[in-house]
Amino acid sequence: MKTAKLSDIVSLCARRGFVFPSCQIYGGLASIWDYGPLGAVLKKNIKDAWWKTYVEFRNDILAVDTSLIMNEEVFAASGHLSGFNDTLLECKQCRRRFKIEHLEEVEEGVYKCPECASLIDTKNNPVRQFNLMLKTHLGVVENSLQTAYLRPETAQGMFVNFANVLNTTHKKLPFGIAQIGKSFRNEVTTKSFIFRTREFEQMEIEFFVQPGKAPEFYEYWKQERMRWYVEEIGINEENLKFREHAKEELAHYAKACVDVEYNFSFGWKELEGIASRGDFDLSRHAEFSGKDLRYYDDRKKERFFPYVIEPSAGVDRTFLAVLNDAYCEEEVNGRKRVVLKLNKKIAPYKIAVFPLLKNRPEIVELAKKIYEDLKYTRKVVYDDTAAIGKLYRRQDEIGTPFCITVDVDSLSDGKVTVRDRDTMQQQRVSIGGLKEYFQDKF
Ligand code: ATP
Repeated sequence: MKTAKLSDIVSLCARRGFVFPSCQIYGGLASIWDYGPLGAVLKKNIKDAWWKTYVEFRNDILAVDTSLIMNEEVFAASGHLSGFNDTLLECKQCRRRFKIEHLEEVEEGVYKCPECASLIDTKNNPVRQFNLMLKTHLGVVENSLQTAYLRPETAQGMFVNFANVLNTTHKKLPFGIAQIGKSFRNEVTTKSFIFRTREFEQMEIEFFVQPGKAPEFYEYWKQERMRWYVEEIGINEENLKFREHAKEELAHYAKACVDVEYNFSFGWKELEGIASRGDFDLSRHAEFSGKDLRYYDDRKKERFFPYVIEPSAGVDRTFLAVLNDAYCEEEVNGRKRVVLKLNKKIAPYKIAVFPLLKNRPEIVELAKKIYEDLKYTRKVVYDDTAAIGKLYRRQDEIGTPFCITVDVDSLSDGKVTVRDRDTMQQQRVSIGGLKEYFQDKF
């Protein structure tokens, strides 16, 4: 499958207002990004597609929205304080630091610097452990400050609320807790645009099952999450694959783990990890908090820790994959056309309305009236700030599935031209029939 160049995506995002460097007027902040008017909507549409599928349309998954700043104890229990590290090596020549697994080992213990090509010998350059969590302090009085952390994943908020959710909803196994929210990691390697950032968003489910049922639900979530990428947000199946983790890659408590990978121009990369985590999380939080977090099975009259299957997806990486997948360059009448063939469900704008001649008040008025009539059905935009060719090009580049043009004939025959983004075919549709026409199309 052809895959778009990252530079084309970055430039489209800046040109059309999808993504901007954070604090850009002050020179930006490394690996932190802001989403602009179109990016914010596209991102929300991706999150909504996930939320609808797993929270709204199911009875066995409950939502939470937990805090970003969390108690230090949480991360002592989860293992993040001691083990959430990158192994770093610094190049003495260019002073850049790299994750050791990203370096080429030229001979035992000697690595090549990808920045300046000097050799880094681990005998003279110590390998360091670097914790990825962002630390902060709460309180106002210097000597009574409490150390806290910005969460590195949304997952812990769900584990620490397991008993609260269970006691207030009386759910029976199997059931899940889900949330969408920001996470923070002080990443060392920070290239590839929004693929790896220090502030990002996750869509995570902790799905609790009877211990014996874990293999069955692990398989279920693998298939279900792959289905979601293809059917719910329209990513091409050929650009997605599973990468099962080898035994030595697994965390000591994990029973199995698989990544869903996307075929980016910079290689097959992880969009999501699906892990069978056993009872590690609940048993550790029970041990560290001293609270009983076991589930009571009233049929068998026994208490136990449920096993967990965790599908953990990145919003920003999905956003990048969606743009990659939709990006097309085509030649039309000897000119290049850039078009985002986004799935209609997640396209930021669904319909654009233009007057063909903006110096004809009757045409402008009719176009605005059509916009007003349609605006409560789905996201519609009115634009008369350029000539028609340019207006079409703009909407193609941001992936608007349909454009409506009001022309002189519309004033007499009551019809407008509807243009399809992908086929560029134009059709005359009566103004009175537009709502029904789009009902059908969407
Ligand atoms: P990687 O190996 O790429 O660092 P990970 O295996 O550490 O990722 P997980 O901890 O499994 O990632 O997090 C689940 C998902 O959250 C990832 O699949 C990814 O989509 C997203 N994610 C994790 N770290 C980042 C980041 N720094 N920037 C953007 N998204 C991220």
